[in-house]
Amino acid sequence: HTDAETDGDAVATLRTPIVAVLGHVDHGKTTLLDRIRGSTVTEGEAGAITQHIGATAVPLETVSELAGSLVDPTDFDLPGLLFIDTPGHHSFSTLRSRGGALADIAVLVVDVNDGFQPQTIEAIDILQRTETPFVVAANKIDTVPGWNPQDDAPIQQSYDAQSDRARETLDERLYELIGELSEHDFSADMYWRVQNFANNVGVVPTSAETGEGVPDVLTVLMGLSQRYLKDAMAIDAEGPGAGTVLEVKEQKGFGTAIDVVLYDGTVRADDTVVVGATGDPIVTDVRALLQPRPLAEIRTEKRFEQVDAVSAAAGLKIAAPDLDDAMAGAPVRVVRDRSREEVVQEVQEELAAIGVTTEEE
Ligand code: GDP
Repeated sequence: HTDAETDGDAVATLRTPIVAVLGHVDHGKTTLLDRIRGSTVTEGEAGAITQHIGATAVPLETVSELAGSLVDPTDFDLPGLLFIDTPGHHSFSTLRSRGGALADIAVLVVDVNDGFQPQTIEAIDILQRTETPFVVAANKIDTVPGWNPQDDAPIQQSYDAQSDRARETLDERLYELIGELSEHDFSADMYWRVQNFANNVGVVPTSAETGEGVPDVLTVLMGLSQRYLKDAMAIDAEGPGAGTVLEVKEQKGFGTAIDVVLYDGTVRADDTVVVGATGDPIVTDVRALLQPRPLAEIRTEKRFEQVDAVSAAAGLKIAAPDLDDAMAGAPVRVVRDRSREEVVQEVQEELAAIGVTTEEE
């Protein structure tokens, strides 16, 4: 494979992999996401983190700035990482129970003190079933007695700053976690010892509170994506958009709208879309595409701005008539130059594949 391939007239672009953060309640998913979001470089600089609807984009330049010597940006040609913002959220649990098709790659957050818990096991079963590559963030390492916190440091640097006692305590907890992973049929090891990530899960010690190990999580996600997702990330960015509904909610001035994570192609403001629903799929014309305003303008009365088109991977809000019965976790497809029937059938087949039939609900 090369970066740009031709398929008819369509030129493939490499899109951003979509990352889900999973794990048991209170193990630190939200804090980890906040930490990643908080590591924004000064606005206006190349590579600043941008806020999408329901997602946060971390460009490769930012990953490499945060990861310092861990990442040489010239080793990568994927553009960065797009984190889904709603871990453990209602729509996300719906998505998870419907096959976890949303994310390309995942971070499984496990509290090192608490180990595997019911939602950890639930998440790992989904990752296994969907063959989603993932990394384990062994979180809250700063709670190890005697821990000497190293804000935002790569984990090796943080290890070097600890007493033997603290390091040994952490190692014991990490090995327990590796044992639990192996009970669930995942052979795992500290990520820096993993040679082949296809057979072994990498464990990254982290503190979402202090930021220690967070550069390593970003680095491993980038590496895993580059190694295992590159072919899957080659899309026709101009083609008809495809995405997943994250949430269905009222949008002031627009009626019912859907928050969507777009993983393929483009949605344009004049497109017709097919949306999976509790009844028959909805066929409707886009009224508006909305994205958050840049940070600098956030104090203006309107939080969102209307845009003409959005390309994958991205989070966006689609306002259109008749979206009341749209369903979180369901597919969204742009019709463009295809027949409506064909696209409706595609949506129905996808719903069936993830275990939803329109008769059932
Ligand atoms: P979630 O339910 O998985 O999203 O968990 P949260 O991110 O809400 O975290 C639950 C609690 O654990 C909060 O009080 C956090 O401040 C705390 N927490 C999360 N990560 C860490 C960590 O790395 N170290 C410490 N000491 N506390 C943490």
